Amino acid sequence: MNSNAGMRKSLSRNVIESCLAMNAQGINQGSAGNISVRFEDGFLITPSGIPYQQLQPGHIVLIDLDGNSEDSLTPSSEWRMHRDIYVNRPEAGAVLHAHSIFATALSCLRLEIPAFHYMVAVAGGSDIRCADYALFGTQELSDNMLTALDGRRACLLGTHGMICYHDNLGQALWLGVEIETLAKQYWYARQAGDPVILDQAQMTEVLERFESYGKQPADGN
Ligand code: 13P
Ligand code: ZN
Repeated sequence: MNSNAGMRKSLSRNVIESCLAMNAQGINQGSAGNISVRFEDGFLITPSGIPYQQLQPGHIVLIDLDGNSEDSLTPSSEWRMHRDIYVNRPEAGAVLHAHSIFATALSCLRLEIPAFHYMVAVAGGSDIRCADYALFGTQELSDNMLTALDGRRACLLGTHGMICYHDNLGQALWLGVEIETLAKQYWYARQAGDPVILDQAQMTEVLERFESYGKQPADGN
């Protein structure tokens, strides 16, 4: 096996492990959702509609950034959203799409997640938007997603779920869990009353602090 084939197999294994972890951590269920990782001139993505427990590394589909693939399995129906993130966000190393319960419930109400808690800054700004609805698997859905992702690395998808990206699979999974946690907290806060929303100055302060948060001296800071 040459080194690229070895790298592909190992990344494909990581994709499957991330899918199983996504379901085990309760942010997705069944074969809903999909995960990809950047590889060579394209990305490796889960095939469409196959339960994650049945996946083998050879099932993970390689697609180039024009949407072409030489593999026999049909890629995730949402490959366009993944492709458009890799094309438009050079820093994206992995993409996670899930139908997590609270993010999906908010998306069905077409609600964004405002700055009810400072942690919304994990998505890169002072809110986490909800993209307009479009049929799953369409370019229209991907276009709506890109609009909602302006300046962000996560958004809700109207009457569907959520999507996020990060540097690698581990961080994309971490961010997915954070988004679902925020959605759940916001949901509960709304049940009890009218959450106070932080203003722009307060969120600017948070975003500035996030630039150094979590970095240790050993990281060169
Ligand atoms: P795939 O099985 O084709 O990835 O579809 C799941 C999904 O979430 C569609 O939006
Ligand atoms: Zn979906």
